[in-house]
Formats: sequence, structure tokens, C-alpha cells
Amino acid sequence: MPAFPAAARVALADTQLRHNLAHATRTIRDKRAAVVGEVAQWEALRLAGAAVKESALLDLDRHLEQLEERLTAAGATVHWARDAEEACAVVAAVARAHGVDEVVKVKSMATAEIGLNEALAAEGIAAWETDLAELIVQLGGDLPSHILVPAIHRNRAEIREIFRREMAAAGRPAPDDLTDEPAVLAAAARAHLREKFLRAKVGVSGANFAVAESGTLVVVESEGNGRMCLTLPEVLVSVVGIEKVVPTWEALDPLLRLLPRSSTGERMNPYTSTWSGVTPGDGPQEVHVVLLDAGRTRALADEVGRQALRCIRCSACLNVCPVYERTGGHAYGSVYPGPIGAILNPLMKGVGQAGPEGAQTDSLPYASSLCGACFEVCPVRIDIPSVLVDLRAQVVDAHRGDRGVKGEAVAMRAAAWSFSDARRLAWAERASGVAGRVLTRLGRTTLPGGRRAAGRLPGPGAAWTGARDLPAPPRESFRAWWARTRPTQEDDR
Ligand code: SF4
Repeated sequence: MPAFPAAARVALADTQLRHNLAHATRTIRDKRAAVVGEVAQWEALRLAGAAVKESALLDLDRHLEQLEERLTAAGATVHWARDAEEACAVVAAVARAHGVDEVVKVKSMATAEIGLNEALAAEGIAAWETDLAELIVQLGGDLPSHILVPAIHRNRAEIREIFRREMAAAGRPAPDDLTDEPAVLAAAARAHLREKFLRAKVGVSGANFAVAESGTLVVVESEGNGRMCLTLPEVLVSVVGIEKVVPTWEALDPLLRLLPRSSTGERMNPYTSTWSGVTPGDGPQEVHVVLLDAGRTRALADEVGRQALRCIRCSACLNVCPVYERTGGHAYGSVYPGPIGAILNPLMKGVGQAGPEGAQTDSLPYASSLCGACFEVCPVRIDIPSVLVDLRAQVVDAHRGDRGVKGEAVAMRAAAWSFSDARRLAWAERASGVAGRVLTRLGRTTLPGGRRAAGRLPGPGAAWTGARDLPAPPRESFRAWWARTRPTQEDDR
């Protein structure tokens, strides 16, 4: 995956994508704002949610041990996975032990993060996504681009075409009279998936939360497909990030109230499924839980960044982010896109790594305008802008010893040199005024409000102006304006 600036440039050139994203994010934003506005004590609820997650993280080891003990007592088998490879190996071993060549999956960020579908495919096992949006992404041979609505970049006509073209090869074909009406598309998906639910012996899930005191996993969803996955197969494997644990049911209360309003703009989740181990004669008779680290303890060790582990994956930060709205999720190169992806990926993977993957990770903390909208909407008050700034500092520190001179470093040194001396600064202001006069006359672009801007600059300036407007500097600096309008106070400068 290329670094964010290169990937974003491709996305920005796709006008259909930008149209789809703008429409979808605006719709979800408006819905969220309306239902959040109904809660008089929303800020108090946010504080409660943040406090619950923060204290759970500070005592994570104790809660996880309790969770393991209660799950085991309830008949589940608990596995610990340090990384993606170990987690995928557990799921594959369970599937192999039951001789299956397919599993059904409820939408799960953790399994997408570890590349489970690809790992199972390498073993000859097909993993069928059962969430409607995930199904669209899978059939389209595509990647998810949003936490909650993975197919947000697709419109109805595109979805109809994918169903018509791909469904037959994956199971029950789309009906001949398929239209792009949402109800008709949903009915086609339902018939296609029903066949898979009834056939599958093994189900795979994630979990939104894990309650330590009772050893209970919790999945919240809107469609009910998750509940089918959790109850119909004989065997269930759940891959759960270790940060999902909360100590008690009471602690879960504010989170279950914050999540639906922040994510789908609903007052409560249509389906909330909970399960603890095995119940004889009811639901899966073999239950495995894989507790996944994969960089989470690394993030936990970062004093500023550990708050990112509070995330309850509501996606509210994506829907308000001006950068996400224009580039979509693919540009972030991860299952966690948008503002949370821009901090979670570097925190879990570590910055300053060599090679293209390291460069991609290092580019993410810069994929933000730092406008702060993400913090305003985050139900668990993750201060994403502060974490971004801290991660930028970490990226700079990690590359201090690199060979070669970067244009940005040269520009910063030049700025420091100018700002550290009043005469140099005055000279720079005069030069900027001259540049402003020239640009105002020759600039090719006019910005809203009438200000002129430069087009693409040659040489090193091209990297900056390739994707941005460079507004003409003011013709007159504040200092010059002061001297001109208050000549008698010249000495007061
Ligand atoms: S960072 Fe906050 S707003 Fe963004 S997905 Fe996580 S909980 Fe939601």
C-alpha cells in the first residue's frame, strides 16, 4: 500500500467516490447529531464511558485473567494470540479439526485486521461474510472503506451490478429481476446468505465487548445476521482484541448507550447478542475465544496514545473528518481508516520502521487537518488531535538519523533562522509582500473570497502545491501596515 499522500491523490481524482462518500457521511452525521441532541446529559455520559474504558485498560491484566477463568468455567476454550499469525492458526486449526471447507462470519474488525479470510483461503477454507456491506465488499473483490459501512464507497447501481455478476459463483445467484431498490437488494442478499447459514458448521465472530465478571462476550448489530452466525453453527470461534474487556455489566451500561447513537444514529441497537461458553442443547456446542494482542500492549505502553484503545469502533470520527470525507477509507491502507486509523495503526505497529510499509505507517499521523472535529464527536473522548501531534513528533524523532535532506526539514530550518532575528524577519516580510504582489497579478487560480493562488510550483514546491492551493501572501505585512497607519508610534514596535 502506498503512503497516504499518494493513495489520497488517487482517491481525490475519483469524483464518483467523492460524491458517494459526501452523501453517505452527511446522512449519518445528521442522524447522529439528531439523536445525540436528545440526550440532555450527553457530556456526562461521554465522561462516564471514557472513565470506564480508561480504568479497564489500567487494570487490563486482572480483567483478562478473570475473563479467561469465567469463560473456561462456562465451557469455552480460551486461546491467547500474540499476533495475527497465531490468531489465524487457531481459527484454521479449529476449522480443520471439523473437516470443513467453509465458515460463516459476522462482521469483525479484528478478523479483518489479522487477514483471517486470506489465511483461511490459503488452507482451502472459504470464509463467507454475512454482514450485508461486508458481503458487497467481498463479492466485489474490494476492501472495506469504513468501520460501520464497509461499502460506503459503493452506490446502489454498483451494488446491483456486483450482485448480478458475482453471486452465482459464491452460492445462490441473484434473481433475474434484480433492481437497485434497497429492499430488493437486501432480499437478494438475505436469500443468498440464508443458504450459507443453514449449511455452515463453523461460525467466526468478533466481539464489541467482553464482560470479565461473568465471562460474557457481546455483539451489537443492526441486521441480525450476526445472531445467526452466533447461534446456528455447531462450532463458534470468536477473535477478540484484548482491549474489549470491561470489568462488570454496570461498566458496560454507558458504552451500550453511547455506541448506537454515535454509530448508526439509533437510540439502541436492534440486536444485542451475548454468550458465555457452551449451553447444552442450545447454540454452538464448541466455543473458542481467541484473545488477540497484535500490537495492543504496544499501544498500551504509549502514555499519550493508549487512550486510542478506548475506541468502541462507532465510526463517528470518520463521518465528521474532512480528510476522510474526501479520500475515503482505502487511502489509509488499513481496516481502521479515518482519524482513529491514523493513530491506531502507528500505535500498534510502531513508527520509524524501514521499507514501504514503515513509510505508509509513518504517513498516517499527517493524514489530518487537526481541526478537532473527531474529538468533539468521540463518545469516549479520545483526544485524537493530541495523539496525532505526539505521533508526528515520534515520526520526526525516529528519522533524525536518516541520510539525505528532506525538503520539509530545510524549510523548517529556514523558518527558524528567519524568526530568530527581527531584521531577518522584516526582510522576509518584505520578500513575502513582493511575492504577494506578483502572485496577485499572475496567479492562475482564484479562491473563494477573491484571493489569488499559485498553480503548481516547479521543483521542491511541487510536492506541496500538487494537491493544495498556495494562496498569495498579503501584499502588506502587519508590521508595514502598522508603520504606515501609525507613523508616530514607529518606535513602539
Ligand atoms: S475514536 Fe471515538 S469516534 Fe472514532 S471510532 Fe473510536 S470511539 Fe468512535
